[in-house]
Amino acid sequence: MMAKVCIMCQANVDGKPGAVAIREDRIITTIRTIKKKLGIAQMNQLYVCQTDLQKHSERRKSFEKSMMIATVLAGVILVIMILAIILSGRLDAWAIVSAFILAGFVIILPVFKYTPATVNMSVATKTPIGVPVQNKVVQKKQKKKVR
Ligand SMILES: [Zn+2]
Repeated sequence: MMAKVCIMCQANVDGKPGAVAIREDRIITTIRTIKKKLGIAQMNQLYVCQTDLQKHSERRKSFEKSMMIATVLAGVILVIMILAIILSGRLDAWAIVSAFILAGFVIILPVFKYTPATVNMSVATKTPIGVPVQNKVVQKKQKKKVR
């Protein structure tokens, strides 16, 4: 049985006019796959009810903004660190790897604010793709929302 559930207030929106479906992105499908494997998937269809549309759209915008900032910040960190390594004259492989790990960590941070887009939203920024480290975090964060 597929219940239609609002991701903001958890209310059942079945038959309620004005509810907008959530776009199934990589993060959602990843969470679904994990939950199916664990046998805890409830396979709800995700919606945003009419009352929460405004609130959801603000949250999505703020999430997209933090993703953009994180991407730029990660790039800057990477450039500065690589430059510093080169300028130091000691090309240490581990230092370069650390720079990439740090940059990757910064890119993943906005996941804590993860808000999926609705089907009628234009996706300005792509959501970060699920690398293994990230999945656990997303799942933990989303446990309450995606059921
Ligand atoms: Zn709602």
